[in-house]
Amino acid sequence: MTTKEFLQQLITNPEQLSNLVEEAIEMAFQQGFLFRTCETPNSSEVVTYAPFTLFPSAVPKARLVQALEVQTHFNTLVDKISQDPDFLEEALASTIQADDFTARLVSIYRQVQQEGQTQSIVVGLNRSDYMVEQSMDGTSSLKQVEINTIAAAGFGVLDRLPEVHRHILRTTGLLKESECVQDTNMTPAMAAALAKAWEVYGQKKAVILFLVEDVQISQLTQRYSEIELWNRNIPVIRRKFEEVSRRGSLDGDKRLFIDGLEVAVVYYRYGYMPDNYTEQSWAARLLMERSRAVKCPDIGTQLAGTKKIQQVLASPGVLEKFFPDQPQVVEQIRATFAGLYTLDMGPEGDQTVAMALTNPHKFVLKPQREGGGNNYYGEDIVQVLQKFKNDQRRAAYILMDKIQPRTEQNIPLRKGLPPRLTTVSYEIGVFGAYVRYEGEMILNEALGPVLRTKSIEHDDAGVVRGVAMFDSPLVV
Ligand code: ADP
Ligand code: MG
Repeated sequence: MTTKEFLQQLITNPEQLSNLVEEAIEMAFQQGFLFRTCETPNSSEVVTYAPFTLFPSAVPKARLVQALEVQTHFNTLVDKISQDPDFLEEALASTIQADDFTARLVSIYRQVQQEGQTQSIVVGLNRSDYMVEQSMDGTSSLKQVEINTIAAAGFGVLDRLPEVHRHILRTTGLLKESECVQDTNMTPAMAAALAKAWEVYGQKKAVILFLVEDVQISQLTQRYSEIELWNRNIPVIRRKFEEVSRRGSLDGDKRLFIDGLEVAVVYYRYGYMPDNYTEQSWAARLLMERSRAVKCPDIGTQLAGTKKIQQVLASPGVLEKFFPDQPQVVEQIRATFAGLYTLDMGPEGDQTVAMALTNPHKFVLKPQREGGGNNYYGEDIVQVLQKFKNDQRRAAYILMDKIQPRTEQNIPLRKGLPPRLTTVSYEIGVFGAYVRYEGEMILNEALGPVLRTKSIEHDDAGVVRGVAMFDSPLVV
Protein backbone atom coordinates (compact mmCIF):
# COMPACT_ATOMS: atom_id res chain seq x y z
CA MET A 1 0.00 0.00 0.00
CA THR A 2 1.12 3.60 -0.64
CA THR A 3 0.49 6.59 1.64
CA LYS A 4 -2.19 7.73 -0.79
CA GLU A 5 -4.08 4.45 -0.64
CA PHE A 6 -3.67 4.30 3.11
CA LEU A 7 -5.11 7.81 3.49
CA GLN A 8 -8.19 6.91 1.46
CA GLN A 9 -8.82 3.98 3.75
CA LEU A 10 -7.97 5.92 6.90
CA ILE A 11 -10.68 8.54 6.38
CA THR A 12 -13.35 5.85 6.29
CA ASN A 13 -12.26 4.67 9.73
CA PRO A 14 -12.66 7.49 12.29
CA GLU A 15 -11.34 5.44 15.19
CA GLN A 16 -8.15 4.51 13.39
CA LEU A 17 -7.72 8.13 12.28
CA SER A 18 -8.10 9.47 15.78
CA ASN A 19 -5.64 6.91 17.17
CA LEU A 20 -3.09 7.79 14.53
CA VAL A 21 -3.49 11.52 15.12
CA GLU A 22 -2.94 10.95 18.82
CA GLU A 23 0.14 8.87 18.05
CA ALA A 24 1.52 11.64 15.83
CA ILE A 25 0.86 14.43 18.32
CA GLU A 26 2.42 12.51 21.19
CA MET A 27 5.43 11.63 19.09
CA ALA A 28 5.74 15.34 18.22
CA PHE A 29 5.76 16.21 21.93
CA GLN A 30 8.16 13.41 22.65
CA GLN A 31 10.55 14.77 20.00
CA GLY A 32 10.28 18.34 21.27
CA PHE A 33 8.44 19.54 18.16
CA LEU A 34 7.02 22.43 20.18
CA PHE A 35 5.46 25.83 19.68
CA ARG A 36 4.11 28.35 22.10
CA THR A 37 0.38 28.96 21.81
CA CYS A 38 -1.29 31.99 20.22
CA GLU A 39 -3.08 32.55 23.55
CA THR A 40 0.17 32.78 25.55
CA PRO A 41 2.89 33.60 22.98
CA ASN A 42 5.26 35.02 25.60
CA SER A 43 5.15 32.12 28.03
CA SER A 44 6.26 28.50 27.93
CA GLU A 45 4.02 27.51 30.83
CA VAL A 46 1.53 25.98 28.40
CA VAL A 47 2.83 24.92 24.98
CA THR A 48 1.56 22.93 22.03
CA TYR A 49 2.95 21.07 19.02
CA ALA A 50 4.06 23.06 15.98
CA PRO A 51 1.49 22.64 13.17
CA PHE A 52 2.42 19.76 10.88
CA THR A 53 1.03 17.32 8.34
CA LEU A 54 0.17 13.81 9.47
CA PHE A 55 2.16 12.36 6.57
CA PRO A 56 5.28 13.55 4.77
CA SER A 57 4.75 14.69 1.17
CA ALA A 58 6.18 12.97 -1.88
CA VAL A 59 8.75 15.16 -3.64
CA PRO A 60 10.56 14.18 -6.85
CA LYS A 61 14.19 13.48 -6.02
CA ALA A 62 15.47 15.35 -9.07
CA ARG A 63 13.80 18.56 -7.89
CA LEU A 64 15.26 18.25 -4.39
CA VAL A 65 18.70 17.67 -5.80
CA GLN A 66 18.29 20.64 -8.12
CA ALA A 67 17.23 22.92 -5.24
CA LEU A 68 20.17 21.80 -3.10
CA GLU A 69 22.68 22.11 -5.92
CA VAL A 70 21.76 25.66 -6.87
CA GLN A 71 21.80 26.93 -3.28
CA THR A 72 25.50 27.67 -2.93
CA HIS A 73 25.20 29.82 -6.07
CA PHE A 74 22.28 31.72 -4.52
CA ASN A 75 24.47 32.26 -1.45
CA THR A 76 27.19 33.73 -3.62
CA LEU A 77 24.69 35.84 -5.55
CA VAL A 78 23.04 37.30 -2.45
CA ASP A 79 26.44 38.03 -0.98
CA LYS A 80 27.68 39.76 -4.14
CA ILE A 81 24.54 41.91 -4.36
CA SER A 82 24.89 42.93 -0.71
CA GLN A 83 28.29 44.43 -1.51
CA ASP A 84 27.25 46.21 -4.68
CA PRO A 85 25.89 49.66 -3.75
CA ASP A 86 25.60 50.76 -7.39
CA PHE A 87 23.46 47.78 -8.27
CA LEU A 88 21.28 48.09 -5.15
CA GLU A 89 20.80 51.83 -5.63
CA GLU A 90 19.81 51.47 -9.26
CA ALA A 91 17.58 48.45 -8.77
CA LEU A 92 15.75 49.98 -5.80
CA ALA A 93 15.61 53.58 -7.09
CA SER A 94 11.89 53.51 -7.95
CA THR A 95 10.93 51.26 -5.06
CA ILE A 96 12.23 53.64 -2.44
CA GLN A 97 10.16 56.45 -3.94
CA ALA A 98 7.06 54.38 -3.29
CA ASP A 99 7.87 52.24 -0.25
CA ASP A 100 8.89 53.88 3.02
CA PHE A 101 10.18 50.69 4.63
CA THR A 102 12.63 49.88 1.86
CA ALA A 103 13.62 53.55 1.78
CA ARG A 104 14.45 53.42 5.47
CA LEU A 105 16.61 50.32 5.03
CA VAL A 106 18.39 51.93 2.10
CA SER A 107 19.12 55.05 4.12
CA ILE A 108 20.84 52.92 6.77
CA TYR A 109 22.74 51.11 4.02
CA ARG A 110 23.94 54.46 2.65
CA GLN A 111 24.97 55.75 6.02
CA VAL A 112 27.03 52.63 6.75
CA GLN A 113 28.63 52.81 3.30
CA GLN A 114 29.53 56.46 3.82
CA GLU A 115 31.08 55.86 7.21
CA GLY A 116 33.08 53.00 5.71
CA GLN A 117 32.15 49.47 6.68
CA THR A 118 33.83 48.36 9.87
CA GLN A 119 33.41 44.62 9.53
CA SER A 120 34.77 42.34 6.82
CA ILE A 121 33.05 39.23 8.22
CA VAL A 122 29.50 38.47 7.10
CA VAL A 123 27.42 35.45 8.00
CA GLY A 124 24.39 34.60 5.87
CA LEU A 125 21.54 32.25 6.73
CA ASN A 126 18.91 32.39 4.00
CA ARG A 127 16.12 30.18 2.77
CA SER A 128 15.18 29.83 -0.87
CA ASP A 129 11.58 28.69 -1.39
CA TYR A 130 10.28 26.77 -4.37
CA MET A 131 7.14 25.17 -5.70
CA VAL A 132 7.18 22.13 -7.95
CA GLU A 133 5.11 22.63 -11.07
CA GLN A 134 3.81 19.55 -12.82
CA SER A 135 3.32 19.61 -16.58
CA MET A 136 0.72 17.60 -18.48
CA ASP A 137 3.45 15.33 -19.86
CA GLY A 138 4.46 14.25 -16.33
CA THR A 139 7.64 16.29 -16.13
CA SER A 140 8.12 18.59 -13.15
CA SER A 141 9.94 21.87 -12.76
CA LEU A 142 11.25 23.83 -9.82
CA LYS A 143 10.07 27.44 -9.54
CA GLN A 144 11.46 29.83 -6.96
CA VAL A 145 8.84 31.70 -4.91
CA GLU A 146 11.32 33.96 -3.13
CA ILE A 147 14.51 34.01 -1.15
CA ASN A 148 14.44 35.02 2.53
CA THR A 149 17.62 36.69 3.67
CA ILE A 150 16.54 37.74 7.16
CA ALA A 151 15.06 35.68 10.02
CA ALA A 152 14.34 32.68 7.78
CA ALA A 153 12.26 30.31 9.91
CA GLY A 154 12.65 26.56 10.23
CA PHE A 155 15.90 25.93 12.06
CA GLY A 156 15.52 24.01 15.27
CA VAL A 157 12.10 22.53 15.31
CA LEU A 158 12.10 21.23 11.75
CA ASP A 159 15.00 18.87 12.39
CA ARG A 160 12.65 16.97 14.71
CA LEU A 161 9.91 16.31 12.19
CA PRO A 162 11.42 13.54 10.03
CA GLU A 163 11.56 11.32 13.11
CA VAL A 164 7.86 11.92 13.76
CA HIS A 165 6.94 11.16 10.16
CA ARG A 166 9.10 8.05 10.03
CA HIS A 167 7.37 6.79 13.14
CA ILE A 168 3.90 7.39 11.68
CA LEU A 169 4.81 5.52 8.50
CA ARG A 170 6.27 2.64 10.48
CA THR A 171 3.24 2.30 12.74
CA THR A 172 0.97 2.18 9.71
CA GLY A 173 3.07 -0.52 8.06
CA LEU A 174 4.45 1.76 5.33
CA LEU A 175 7.98 0.56 5.99
CA LYS A 176 9.46 1.14 2.57
CA GLU A 177 8.21 4.71 2.53
CA SER A 178 9.50 5.32 6.05
CA GLU A 179 13.01 4.77 4.70
CA CYS A 180 12.54 7.58 2.18
CA VAL A 181 12.18 10.23 4.91
CA GLN A 182 15.56 11.91 5.35
CA ASP A 183 16.97 13.57 8.42
CA THR A 184 17.90 17.22 7.95
CA ASN A 185 20.26 18.17 10.81
CA MET A 186 20.21 21.80 9.74
CA THR A 187 20.49 23.29 13.20
CA PRO A 188 24.02 22.07 13.98
CA ALA A 189 25.09 23.32 10.54
CA MET A 190 23.52 26.76 10.95
CA ALA A 191 25.09 27.00 14.40
CA ALA A 192 28.42 26.07 12.83
CA ALA A 193 28.13 29.05 10.49
CA LEU A 194 27.36 31.45 13.36
CA ALA A 195 30.18 29.83 15.36
CA LYS A 196 32.62 30.29 12.49
CA ALA A 197 31.85 34.00 12.34
CA TRP A 198 32.21 34.25 16.13
CA GLU A 199 35.55 32.44 15.96
CA VAL A 200 36.91 34.72 13.25
CA TYR A 201 35.75 37.73 15.25
CA GLY A 202 38.25 36.46 17.76
CA GLN A 203 37.06 37.45 21.25
CA LYS A 204 36.53 34.46 23.52
CA LYS A 205 34.30 36.41 25.90
CA ALA A 206 32.16 38.06 23.25
CA VAL A 207 28.58 36.85 22.83
CA ILE A 208 26.21 36.05 20.00
CA LEU A 209 23.14 38.24 20.34
CA PHE A 210 19.80 36.86 19.13
CA LEU A 211 17.79 39.97 18.30
CA VAL A 212 14.35 38.61 19.14
CA GLU A 213 10.72 39.40 18.45
CA ASP A 214 8.44 41.37 20.74
CA VAL A 215 5.94 38.49 20.59
CA GLN A 216 8.00 35.33 20.90
CA ILE A 217 5.82 32.50 19.67
CA SER A 218 8.77 30.64 18.13
CA GLN A 219 11.13 31.05 21.08
CA LEU A 220 11.30 27.31 21.77
CA THR A 221 12.55 26.60 18.29
CA GLN A 222 15.29 29.21 18.67
CA ARG A 223 16.39 27.43 21.83
CA TYR A 224 17.68 24.55 19.70
CA SER A 225 20.02 26.90 17.88
CA GLU A 226 21.12 28.54 21.12
CA ILE A 227 21.97 25.24 22.75
CA GLU A 228 24.09 24.23 19.77
CA LEU A 229 26.15 27.37 20.36
CA TRP A 230 26.38 26.95 24.12
CA ASN A 231 27.62 23.40 23.49
CA ARG A 232 30.54 24.98 21.65
CA ASN A 233 31.16 27.25 24.64
CA ILE A 234 29.81 30.24 22.77
CA PRO A 235 27.69 32.46 25.02
CA VAL A 236 24.31 33.48 23.63
CA ILE A 237 22.08 36.31 24.81
CA ARG A 238 18.58 37.31 23.70
CA ARG A 239 17.62 40.95 23.47
CA LYS A 240 14.84 43.01 21.91
CA PHE A 241 15.37 46.14 19.83
CA GLU A 242 14.06 48.18 22.72
CA GLU A 243 16.73 46.77 25.07
CA VAL A 244 19.50 47.43 22.57
CA SER A 245 18.29 50.97 22.11
CA ARG A 246 18.32 51.64 25.86
CA ARG A 247 21.42 49.74 26.89
CA GLY A 248 23.54 49.19 23.77
CA SER A 249 26.56 51.30 22.91
CA LEU A 250 29.66 51.46 20.73
CA ASP A 251 33.17 52.01 22.05
CA GLY A 252 35.85 54.05 20.27
CA ASP A 253 36.57 51.11 17.92
CA LYS A 254 32.86 50.72 17.20
CA ARG A 255 32.73 47.49 19.14
CA LEU A 256 29.14 46.80 20.21
CA PHE A 257 28.38 46.39 23.92
CA ILE A 258 25.21 45.60 25.81
CA ASP A 259 24.93 45.09 29.57
CA GLY A 260 28.72 45.00 29.79
CA LEU A 261 29.03 42.24 27.17
CA GLU A 262 30.83 42.61 23.87
CA VAL A 263 28.73 41.38 20.94
CA ALA A 264 30.58 39.39 18.27
CA VAL A 265 27.56 38.46 16.13
CA VAL A 266 24.03 39.85 15.88
CA TYR A 267 21.59 37.24 14.61
CA TYR A 268 18.35 38.97 13.59
CA ARG A 269 15.21 36.98 14.29
CA TYR A 270 13.21 40.18 13.82
CA GLY A 271 13.32 43.42 11.91
CA TYR A 272 11.95 42.21 8.55
CA MET A 273 8.64 44.13 8.63
CA PRO A 274 7.71 47.80 9.15
CA ASP A 275 5.66 46.97 12.24
CA ASN A 276 8.77 45.42 13.85
CA TYR A 277 10.13 48.95 14.22
CA THR A 278 9.51 51.95 16.41
CA GLU A 279 11.72 55.02 16.07
CA GLN A 280 13.74 53.60 18.95
CA SER A 281 14.22 50.30 17.11
CA TRP A 282 15.40 52.09 14.00
CA ALA A 283 18.04 53.79 16.11
CA ALA A 284 19.07 50.43 17.58
CA ARG A 285 19.25 48.89 14.10
CA LEU A 286 21.49 51.72 12.93
CA LEU A 287 23.70 51.32 15.99
CA MET A 288 24.18 47.61 15.30
CA GLU A 289 24.75 48.14 11.57
CA ARG A 290 27.43 50.76 12.23
CA SER A 291 29.12 48.52 14.77
CA ARG A 292 32.01 46.15 14.38
CA ALA A 293 29.77 43.18 15.29
CA VAL A 294 29.18 40.62 12.54
CA LYS A 295 25.62 40.92 11.27
CA CYS A 296 23.43 38.02 10.21
CA PRO A 297 22.32 39.51 7.92
CA ASP A 298 23.80 42.94 7.36
CA ILE A 299 21.51 45.54 5.84
CA GLY A 300 22.82 45.00 2.28
CA THR A 301 22.01 41.31 2.54
CA GLN A 302 18.53 42.08 3.80
CA LEU A 303 18.01 44.39 0.80
CA ALA A 304 19.29 41.67 -1.54
CA GLY A 305 16.29 39.59 -0.43
CA THR A 306 13.64 42.12 -1.47
CA LYS A 307 11.04 41.14 -4.06
CA LYS A 308 12.25 44.04 -6.23
CA ILE A 309 15.76 42.62 -6.40
CA GLN A 310 14.31 39.22 -7.27
CA GLN A 311 12.47 40.82 -10.18
CA VAL A 312 15.50 42.76 -11.40
CA LEU A 313 17.61 39.58 -11.32
CA ALA A 314 15.19 37.98 -13.76
CA SER A 315 15.80 40.72 -16.35
CA PRO A 316 18.03 39.77 -19.28
CA GLY A 317 21.77 40.12 -18.69
CA VAL A 318 21.63 40.82 -14.96
CA LEU A 319 22.76 37.43 -13.65
CA GLU A 320 25.57 37.50 -16.20
CA LYS A 321 26.88 40.62 -14.55
CA PHE A 322 27.35 38.72 -11.28
CA PHE A 323 28.76 35.56 -12.84
CA PRO A 324 30.62 36.88 -15.91
CA ASP A 325 32.62 33.72 -16.62
CA GLN A 326 30.18 31.12 -15.37
CA PRO A 327 27.37 30.61 -17.89
CA GLN A 328 26.48 27.27 -16.31
CA VAL A 329 25.87 28.96 -12.94
CA VAL A 330 23.70 31.60 -14.62
CA GLU A 331 21.78 28.82 -16.35
CA GLN A 332 21.29 26.87 -13.12
CA ILE A 333 19.95 29.90 -11.25
CA ARG A 334 17.78 31.15 -14.11
CA ALA A 335 16.18 27.73 -14.56
CA THR A 336 14.41 28.25 -11.22
CA PHE A 337 12.91 31.66 -12.06
CA ALA A 338 9.22 32.17 -12.71
CA GLY A 339 8.17 35.16 -14.84
CA LEU A 340 8.79 38.42 -12.93
CA TYR A 341 7.72 41.85 -14.18
CA THR A 342 8.55 45.44 -13.27
CA LEU A 343 5.94 47.99 -12.24
CA ASP A 344 8.34 50.93 -12.42
CA MET A 345 7.04 53.96 -14.33
CA GLY A 346 7.64 53.68 -18.08
CA PRO A 347 6.52 51.60 -21.05
CA GLU A 348 7.66 48.27 -19.58
CA GLY A 349 5.72 48.88 -16.38
CA ASP A 350 2.68 50.01 -18.41
CA GLN A 351 2.81 46.73 -20.26
CA THR A 352 2.91 44.85 -16.94
CA VAL A 353 -0.18 46.73 -15.75
CA ALA A 354 -2.07 45.92 -18.94
CA MET A 355 -1.08 42.25 -18.73
CA ALA A 356 -2.17 41.99 -15.08
CA LEU A 357 -5.52 43.67 -15.72
CA THR A 358 -6.27 41.40 -18.67
CA ASN A 359 -5.43 38.13 -16.89
CA PRO A 360 -5.31 38.78 -13.13
CA HIS A 361 -5.69 35.10 -12.27
CA LYS A 362 -2.38 34.27 -13.88
CA PHE A 363 -0.38 36.52 -11.55
CA VAL A 364 0.57 37.46 -8.00
CA LEU A 365 1.07 41.11 -7.05
CA LYS A 366 3.75 41.49 -4.40
CA PRO A 367 4.80 44.39 -2.18
CA GLN A 368 8.21 44.58 -0.46
CA ARG A 369 7.07 42.66 2.60
CA GLU A 370 7.89 39.40 4.38
CA GLY A 371 6.09 36.98 6.64
CA GLY A 372 3.13 35.98 4.46
CA GLY A 373 -0.31 37.50 3.92
CA ASN A 374 0.85 40.54 1.97
CA ASN A 375 0.29 39.52 -1.63
CA TYR A 376 -2.69 40.11 -3.94
CA TYR A 377 -4.30 37.51 -6.17
CA GLY A 378 -6.97 37.51 -8.89
CA GLU A 379 -9.61 40.22 -8.66
CA ASP A 380 -7.78 41.90 -5.77
CA ILE A 381 -4.94 42.63 -8.18
CA VAL A 382 -7.38 44.53 -10.39
CA GLN A 383 -8.74 46.51 -7.47
CA VAL A 384 -5.31 47.47 -6.19
CA LEU A 385 -3.87 48.33 -9.59
CA GLN A 386 -6.89 50.41 -10.57
CA LYS A 387 -6.04 52.72 -7.67
CA PHE A 388 -2.53 53.63 -8.73
CA LYS A 389 -1.79 52.09 -12.09
CA ASN A 390 -0.88 55.51 -13.49
CA ASP A 391 1.36 56.81 -10.74
CA GLN A 392 4.60 56.16 -8.92
CA ARG A 393 2.92 54.23 -6.07
CA ARG A 394 2.78 51.15 -8.27
CA ALA A 395 6.59 50.86 -8.04
CA ALA A 396 6.24 49.58 -4.47
CA TYR A 397 5.13 46.27 -6.06
CA ILE A 398 6.29 43.68 -8.54
CA LEU A 399 4.21 41.27 -10.58
CA MET A 400 4.99 37.57 -10.75
CA ASP A 401 3.58 34.62 -12.70
CA LYS A 402 1.34 32.57 -10.47
CA ILE A 403 2.97 29.18 -10.02
CA GLN A 404 0.64 26.17 -10.19
CA PRO A 405 2.11 23.70 -7.72
CA ARG A 406 1.49 19.97 -7.59
CA THR A 407 -1.26 19.07 -5.17
CA GLU A 408 -1.34 16.21 -2.66
CA GLN A 409 -3.75 14.80 -0.11
CA ASN A 410 -2.83 15.08 3.56
CA ILE A 411 -4.23 15.66 7.03
CA PRO A 412 -3.25 18.95 8.67
CA LEU A 413 -2.60 18.81 12.42
CA ARG A 414 -2.93 22.07 14.27
CA LYS A 415 -4.11 22.74 17.80
CA GLY A 416 -7.86 23.18 17.77
CA LEU A 417 -8.36 22.07 14.17
CA PRO A 418 -10.32 18.83 13.61
CA PRO A 419 -8.18 16.53 11.45
CA ARG A 420 -9.65 16.02 7.99
CA LEU A 421 -8.45 15.01 4.57
CA THR A 422 -7.33 18.13 2.73
CA THR A 423 -5.92 18.96 -0.67
CA VAL A 424 -2.61 20.67 -0.05
CA SER A 425 0.45 21.94 -1.86
CA TYR A 426 3.94 22.28 -0.53
CA GLU A 427 6.84 24.65 -0.81
CA ILE A 428 10.36 23.30 -0.65
CA GLY A 429 12.76 25.40 1.38
CA VAL A 430 16.51 25.04 1.08
CA PHE A 431 18.66 26.89 3.57
CA GLY A 432 21.90 28.52 2.63
CA ALA A 433 24.66 29.10 5.18
CA TYR A 434 27.80 31.04 4.38
CA VAL A 435 30.55 33.07 5.94
CA ARG A 436 32.55 35.65 4.04
CA TYR A 437 35.82 36.86 5.53
CA GLU A 438 38.00 39.47 3.87
CA GLY A 439 36.36 38.90 0.52
CA GLU A 440 36.61 35.09 0.57
CA MET A 441 33.79 32.61 1.16
CA ILE A 442 35.22 30.50 3.98
CA LEU A 443 32.00 28.51 4.36
CA ASN A 444 29.28 28.00 1.73
CA GLU A 445 26.68 25.28 2.23
CA ALA A 446 23.19 24.11 1.34
CA LEU A 447 21.07 22.77 4.22
CA GLY A 448 17.72 21.05 4.24
CA PRO A 449 15.44 20.56 2.42
CA VAL A 450 12.32 21.28 4.45
CA LEU A 451 8.70 21.56 3.42
CA ARG A 452 5.97 23.98 4.36
CA THR A 453 2.55 22.88 3.24
CA LYS A 454 -0.80 24.63 3.01
CA SER A 455 -4.35 23.82 2.04
CA ILE A 456 -4.98 24.90 -1.56
CA GLU A 457 -7.88 27.00 -0.22
CA HIS A 458 -5.25 29.55 0.74
CA ASP A 459 -3.31 31.55 -1.83
CA ASP A 460 -0.81 32.82 0.69
CA ALA A 461 1.27 31.00 3.31
CA GLY A 462 2.95 31.58 6.72
CA VAL A 463 3.26 29.02 9.54
CA VAL A 464 3.02 31.52 12.40
CA ARG A 465 0.03 33.16 10.68
CA GLY A 466 -1.79 29.86 11.03
CA VAL A 467 -2.00 29.00 7.34
CA ALA A 468 0.96 26.75 6.56
CA MET A 469 2.17 23.63 8.38
CA PHE A 470 5.57 22.06 8.64
CA ASP A 471 6.11 18.96 6.57
CA SER A 472 9.00 16.79 5.47
CA PRO A 473 9.88 15.44 2.05
CA LEU A 474 9.34 11.82 1.18
CA VAL A 475 11.90 11.41 -1.54
CA VAL A 476 10.48 9.60 -4.58
P1 ADP B 1 6.52 36.40 2.00
O1 ADP B 1 7.81 37.14 2.06
O2 ADP B 1 5.39 37.13 2.57
O3 ADP B 1 6.67 35.00 2.53
P2 ADP B 1 6.22 35.10 -0.58
O4 ADP B 1 6.74 35.57 -1.85
O5 ADP B 1 6.86 33.90 0.00
O6 ADP B 1 6.23 36.32 0.45
O7 ADP B 1 4.68 34.84 -0.72
C1 ADP B 1 3.89 34.33 0.33
C2 ADP B 1 3.14 33.10 -0.14
O8 ADP B 1 2.34 33.39 -1.27
C3 ADP B 1 4.06 31.96 -0.59
O9 ADP B 1 4.46 31.19 0.49
C4 ADP B 1 3.14 31.22 -1.56
O10 ADP B 1 2.26 30.36 -0.86
C5 ADP B 1 2.34 32.34 -2.20
N1 ADP B 1 3.01 32.77 -3.44
C6 ADP B 1 3.97 33.70 -3.55
N2 ADP B 1 4.37 33.84 -4.82
C7 ADP B 1 3.67 32.96 -5.54
C8 ADP B 1 3.63 32.64 -6.92
N3 ADP B 1 4.41 33.25 -7.81
N4 ADP B 1 2.75 31.68 -7.31
C9 ADP B 1 1.94 31.06 -6.42
N5 ADP B 1 1.93 31.35 -5.11
C10 ADP B 1 2.77 32.28 -4.65
MG1 MG C 1 7.67 33.43 1.79
